Amino acid sequence: MAYTGETIDVDATLQRLNKAASERGFDCFSLVEQDGTVVPYFTRAAKTESAPRIYLLAGMHGDEPASPLSVLDLLENDLLGMGVDWTIFPMLNPAGFRINQRENHQGVDLNREYKAPTTKEVKAHVEVIEQSEPWDLALIIHEDWESEGYYLYDLPTELTDGWAPRIIEAVSRVCPIDLSDSIDEMSAKGGIIAPRLEDIDTEPKLMGHWPEPIFMHAEGKIRGTYTFESPSSFDFTTRIQAHNAAILASVELLLGSKR
Ligand SMILES: [Zn+2]
Repeated sequence: MAYTGETIDVDATLQRLNKAASERGFDCFSLVEQDGTVVPYFTRAAKTESAPRIYLLAGMHGDEPASPLSVLDLLENDLLGMGVDWTIFPMLNPAGFRINQRENHQGVDLNREYKAPTTKEVKAHVEVIEQSEPWDLALIIHEDWESEGYYLYDLPTELTDGWAPRIIEAVSRVCPIDLSDSIDEMSAKGGIIAPRLEDIDTEPKLMGHWPEPIFMHAEGKIRGTYTFESPSSFDFTTRIQAHNAAILASVELLLGSKR
């Protein structure tokens, strides 16, 4: 089975993303050229000193279109506050979106590449991460066509202790939560999967195939991270609203912790 819902026009979406980002005062960079398409990323320094730093990544898998669209919605509606230092990768895998495929155009799942990158996309991404100052929070936006509602991966950290239920609560106002005991073959509770870092190198699915947040954590580049998963059997509007609610709730929690 595969995702059979609505898809996006890649060039039009990239054009809107770049336009919205530059109108909102972001500096727009090219990460790398992927099969003829520029993969963009955006940064904007906060207006205040000692502001928290947030990393936001979308569009890693080409069959998860609500992910880049939520970033587009946040940018176009000016919902990303000036009190944060932002780094945004709005669509890491445009070539995958062109063929509505999880993997890139060469059939590689980019999110299993972070321990030993082979693709130029992930190599370039790793280089930017390594050269950047650490972030307080990494928010990583995905979709899941098998889930019955919204859920998140909570990599437990001191900074974000206790935040996940509050994020889920914010999302539940706009989208049902997946309340299964087991999601994606991992145990879950109240829409929250909390993988144990100790298991990373013994879990067969992940061994040697680190996804992005594990790499960032191992490199000491983040103090906390969430991976958000919207249910792609739901309608586009609900999925986008759900991601936006999760992202904005996380930003509020981080800003609150700094006060
Ligand atoms: Zn994904």
